[in-house]
Amino acid sequence: MTTRNCDVLVVGAGAGGLATAITAKKHGLDVIVIEKDDCFGGTTAFSGGVLWVPGNRHSANDSTEAAMTYLRNETDACFDAAGVEAFLRYGPQMVDFFERETAVKFVPTLYPDYHPQVEGGVDVGRSILAAPYDIRGLGPDMARLRPPLKTITFIGMMFNSSNADLKHFFNVTRSLTSFVYVARRLLTHLKELALYRRGTQVTSGNALAARLVRSALDLGIPILTGTPARQLLRDGGRVVGALAGQGNSELRIQARRGVVLACGGFSHDLQRLRQAYPHVRRGGEHFSPVPAGNTGDGARMAEALGAKVDIRLQAP
Ligand SMILES: Cc1cc2nc3c(=O)[nH]c(=O)nc-3n(C[C@H](O)[C@H](O)[C@H](O)COP(=O)(O)OP(=O)(O)OC[C@H]3O[C@@H](n4cnc5c(N)ncnc54)[C@H](O)[C@@H]3O)c2cc1C
Repeated sequence: MTTRNCDVLVVGAGAGGLATAITAKKHGLDVIVIEKDDCFGGTTAFSGGVLWVPGNRHSANDSTEAAMTYLRNETDACFDAAGVEAFLRYGPQMVDFFERETAVKFVPTLYPDYHPQVEGGVDVGRSILAAPYDIRGLGPDMARLRPPLKTITFIGMMFNSSNADLKHFFNVTRSLTSFVYVARRLLTHLKELALYRRGTQVTSGNALAARLVRSALDLGIPILTGTPARQLLRDGGRVVGALAGQGNSELRIQARRGVVLACGGFSHDLQRLRQAYPHVRRGGEHFSPVPAGNTGDGARMAEALGAKVDIRLQAP
């Protein structure tokens, strides 16, 4: 068994884990990230990459009061004033921090709130999107980035919703300009496939994951893929690290300051799905596009030490 030491051990290399690792490192802590899968990015790399952050620096006229009203109306009995206040105060600061200090950049979108007609809702401004990224910027680590969800690509090509892509693809048979645009775009993509066996111009959640990974690597944070955490280590009342698998060997990681469980949800944990959803209890299937490795390990490891998992909020 090999032993490694750090201040903070982060379990899971999706947006949650990587953002935590970057923040801890920026505050002077020594961080290690371990990731169960052979690639990093988790569900985040499959996602739309849209962040809903009222008051972000890309939006024009918004107010904390309006966002608070909207969230109160939308969440009803689940409204948690302290949580919402913290989210509204620190969300914009989080966006500023990442854009100022890291390779994570955002672009504004034209997306409305889910229910803009609800009091406090807005038509545009609260949703920002990870800026597109050329994953050749990851160097040899490009191969470790989870590819995007097949169903949101065209032969592996990702569309850029913040530029002309969609307009030209829809007009390809009606306009010569669009035809030339699409032909160029496809040729470039085919060249990328030939050279790198994947599209290198990524958007949405794949761009978010790539940008977070780039930022973590720039800070010298090790991201150990193919390293699933199996058990938390305890010393008296404190969690002091974790045991992880690495091929045929075991890795013991001792964390002086803490362990952060960022293992994603329980989309592929049948036992908890049964607890959470009546249709699964009745024998029905529950489809999820989330990567198969998200089997609720974080919750299980925490429960083994006495934590309680509250699944009343499973739907949101
Ligand atoms: C198709 C799709 C589109 C979406 N679009 C959006 C959107 O636009 N905006 C939005 O806000 N949300 C969106 N979501 C939801 C969003 O993607 C997720 O909520 C978010 O990515 C979760 O991030 P995470 O870091 O918590 O988990 P993940 O990104 O899933 O990362 C968890 C990581 O932990 C790893 N892991 C699991 N167990 C272990 C273990 N034992 N040891 C080590 N590592 C482990 C996993 O392999 C995974 O890599 C979308 C989801 C889907 C599926």
